[in-house]
Amino acid sequence: MDKFFPVFWRDNLYGFYIIKSNKRTNSESFRVVIAQLAQSLAAAYHIKWHESKFEQLQERLIGSKISTTVTEGDSQVERVLQFMKCKKTDAIIPQIVNSLQEIPQIEDLIFIYDNKDNDSTELLFTGKQPSKLAPPKNSDLHNLTEMLHFKTVVRLDEVTKKSNENNSWINELKNNSINRIAAFPLSNRRKGLLAWRQKGEAVEISQRINLYRKYLVDIFENVEEMELLEELSFTDNLTTLSNRRYFYKRLHEELNRSERYGRKLALIIFDIDELKNINDTYGHQAGDEVIRQIGYMLKKFIRTIDVVARYGGDEFCIIMPESDKDTCMKFVERLHNKIVNSSFKLEEENKSISCTISMGVAVYPDHADNSKKLIYAADMALLRAKESGRNKALLATETIKTE
Ligand code: GH3
Ligand code: MG
Repeated sequence: MDKFFPVFWRDNLYGFYIIKSNKRTNSESFRVVIAQLAQSLAAAYHIKWHESKFEQLQERLIGSKISTTVTEGDSQVERVLQFMKCKKTDAIIPQIVNSLQEIPQIEDLIFIYDNKDNDSTELLFTGKQPSKLAPPKNSDLHNLTEMLHFKTVVRLDEVTKKSNENNSWINELKNNSINRIAAFPLSNRRKGLLAWRQKGEAVEISQRINLYRKYLVDIFENVEEMELLEELSFTDNLTTLSNRRYFYKRLHEELNRSERYGRKLALIIFDIDELKNINDTYGHQAGDEVIRQIGYMLKKFIRTIDVVARYGGDEFCIIMPESDKDTCMKFVERLHNKIVNSSFKLEEENKSISCTISMGVAVYPDHADNSKKLIYAADMALLRAKESGRNKALLATETIKTE
């Protein structure tokens, strides 16, 4: 058998996997493994491409300190470099707003921008809460930003003189004592507008807005691509375990198999106890380290036929095909002991910390007859474990079946 699998990322073909083998195999799990390999390879290439784009941007930016008229010094360049380090687009927007709010002449800053997921707009403000100011329609926001185009800072008076009734929401800005606006696109797709109350004149404002605008679209689009990559992938970045998307897909497949062959399947959901306390005491990095090390431990602990995934936050899931409640509960006890007796090394602090976990278990078909209900049953058992003092593993009690 010779098989060719193309490695695609979006419209780009990065190459092929060629499998040469004497065995004739076409099983579902074989195809899943190949698809994952192809996807990982495409993702690796894609991330490399993004890294080089970041590097080019950084070089351009650091070069611009010398060649442009930026007079605010290195701190603003540093700030733009901070935007580049964000992994989520949602994290960049508050940083922009906070940074501009530092300028003494700016009061009550509002940022109006396109929503990431739908055809609406969002408002983010600092200072006084704007009264009766609803987010405008996308079309109104787009018309206005088009009109302002590359102008740096525009007096709101000038705009209201020219504006038609479609832009009546601009009057709402005026009613909130806003007197300056500037177009501030986030990406080619997502428009944005800065609006603020300014006392006196300040050349620093237009300089800073210009500097941010010059680099933001590139940075933002890069992060948008990274987000998309993460959404489409099957791997959780922190732990390198499978992510929730892959978990759902596999649970569905494994349940179909169990149903077809009349086999049992156990589902375990567990959650780290009071991780927030660990974050608050030792820092978020320490929390990350605990999640990462538990992920590593899980990979080594499970059987080859089990599927382990990071369900989200501090929650993990294990699908155990061919397991009834006795087999599963024995495994759960060993896993629970292993985790609560472990100490997690924190590199930076040269310290070790420990944690406890709470676990919920449900078994197909004893507790539920489809994936949604099985997850619900395990989740309810986990909730009981939390409510009855944490640091324990409980089996589902009720049977939740489709009518
Ligand atoms: P509980 O015992 O009820 O589980 O308490 P908890 O503090 O663990 O709270 P919960 O499970 O409800 O929420 C998870 C918390 O874990 C929220 C957040 O502070 C933290 N957290 C979630 N994801 C991450 C992460 O990726 N890294 C870090 N460091 N902390 C996270
Ligand atoms: Mg928790």
